[in-house]
Amino acid sequence: MDGADDEFLIAHPEGVPVIISMKLHATRQQIDEVTARIKEFGYQVHSIEGEERVVIGVVGRGDVTACLESLESMPQVERAVRISVPYKFVSREFRPHKTEIKAGNVVIGGDEFITMAGPCSVESEKQILESAEIVARGGAKLLRGGAFKPRTSPYDFQGLAEEGLKLLDKARRATGLAIITEVMSEVDVPMVAQYADVLQIGARNMQNFSLLKTLGNCGRPIMLKRGLSATIKELLMSAEYIVAHGNPNVMLCERGIRTFETETRNTCDITAIPVLHELTHLPVILDPSHAVGKRRLVPALARAGVAIGADGLIVEMHPQPEKAVSDGAQSLNPEQYLRMMEDLKPYIKLWKDERVAEAATV
Ligand code: PEP
Ligand code: MN
Repeated sequence: MDGADDEFLIAHPEGVPVIISMKLHATRQQIDEVTARIKEFGYQVHSIEGEERVVIGVVGRGDVTACLESLESMPQVERAVRISVPYKFVSREFRPHKTEIKAGNVVIGGDEFITMAGPCSVESEKQILESAEIVARGGAKLLRGGAFKPRTSPYDFQGLAEEGLKLLDKARRATGLAIITEVMSEVDVPMVAQYADVLQIGARNMQNFSLLKTLGNCGRPIMLKRGLSATIKELLMSAEYIVAHGNPNVMLCERGIRTFETETRNTCDITAIPVLHELTHLPVILDPSHAVGKRRLVPALARAGVAIGADGLIVEMHPQPEKAVSDGAQSLNPEQYLRMMEDLKPYIKLWKDERVAEAATV
């Protein structure tokens, strides 16, 4: 995705955005014929992108139906559609095929179910190295751990900052796990990007638009968590900020929202997962830990996440949850984590069969 895409989205909000998706491996001549046809209608071509498949963005004016019909009758055109939703680049209308994101040697959004696990906060070298070893043993592919912590109270542990990032890096070298860690402020983005394979944007920062814009060229995939009282559409609009500013590698995370219910820390909007899969091509991760806030409920919700088709899980696990400086109550202990990973296996097998069958029909 290049600068032309930004212009398409930002500089022409009053136009009618139309996306023309070419058939696979269309030739340069075929693409030129299509752009010539668009120009005959008096519309401007704003972007051409894609590796295997070329997608052409056009801003139309008034009734674009005739143009759409004409383009669709061209043999080299797969689809010509109006993007009816305000989140253009992240919509399924724009890209019917799921986005696959590479983090370290792991692919998220493909046909492997990916688990990320680890403590809420990086606390010490011993704690994170021990965590990493257990996380890897259970089969998770990414190690989580916050070095910058968004705490409700300013008197609570705020994270080890760069020292914590260095410990995560050490854990990566010891285990081969990829690292996901939160970045809270735009000024820290370059530093966190140096150490992390995936940058996590926490629920409280989902609409920190300056931060979102900075992520456009940070060079790392992003996991964007849903805000505490954000709608699905708002989540998608926030993802759109990151993509429109140049970074297409965004995954979304459902981590529970605030409702009138008080038995659980948040209310898991499990439906958001299939809804998001309908609306967007971005991978969707479930965080059962923050959603329920109680460790005994985490495995059941994790199972639901696999069954409903999430692309992966992010789970809190601590070698000694009773000593955790943050989120101990929702952190699995090593034994619970290892059992959960074992118990998920038959569900993940079904998940994979389903994913392969789905890929064959798209
Ligand atoms: C976390 O992952 O530890 C965290 C703070 O999550 P959230 O932003 O979803 O509250
Ligand atoms: Mn936490």
